[in-house]
Amino acid sequence: MNRLKIAIQKSGRLSDDCQELLKACGIKFHYNKDRLIVYAKNQPIELLRVRDDDIPALVFDGVADLGFVGENVLGECQLDRQNKGETASFNKLKVFEFGECRLSLAVPKDFDYQSLASLKNARIATSYPNLLKKYMDDNTVPFKNCLLTGSVEVAPSAGIAHAICDLVSSGATLEANGLKEVEVIYRSKACLIVKSEPLSAEKQALVDKLLTRMTGVEQAKE
Ligand code: ATP
Ligand code: ZN
Repeated sequence: MNRLKIAIQKSGRLSDDCQELLKACGIKFHYNKDRLIVYAKNQPIELLRVRDDDIPALVFDGVADLGFVGENVLGECQLDRQNKGETASFNKLKVFEFGECRLSLAVPKDFDYQSLASLKNARIATSYPNLLKKYMDDNTVPFKNCLLTGSVEVAPSAGIAHAICDLVSSGATLEANGLKEVEVIYRSKACLIVKSEPLSAEKQALVDKLLTRMTGVEQAKE
């Protein structure tokens, strides 16, 4: 059979948890840090090791069968496609307990923040322009977008933006940059998605087996 193609983050906050989960499901890989594609030794599975931002599109377009990705990145990519009038079809198979974070608005500590309206016409730095715009539009607060793919948290002190919209887990990064979290706009965990186009019977059987094993791994941890 054709190998089941699974997209995972090559290196970053989700990689270790995803690799450990697959290992706990009994799938053996020889990882080589430079390899884009890694074949499983004991199952017809291959991993596509890519940047997390590329994972939703690989699954939407059916290039990968499955993808492990943060719901934040998934939501952002889905809105991006929709806003361009393109389709973003997939099914969410599972939400995990790892990769937990929140996308929040934060402002400098001395910013007199009363409510979201305090950010009216503010320039907000973010790597999540679509999720931010949806939230602000839903709350009818106009703002100016400042797209940054990194170093978002230094934008206010650098005088580039009045506020930021960024991922937070402990809050230590915000603290270190003199910022305070004022609104949570999106809560996220890692999830597993599958392409919407039906899989072959063999691939579907393998996915079913994987899901059963994942549930078993989770129950064993309880
Ligand atoms: P890549 O090189 O793959 O693009 P990245 O720098 O965009 O990596 P990471 O920082 O590794 O991504 O984060 C990957 C995902 O981990 C995030 O999109 C999010 O779903 C999750 N995550 C959990 N906690 C945090 C956190 N504190 N900060 C950032 N991401 C977090
Ligand atoms: Zn990324």
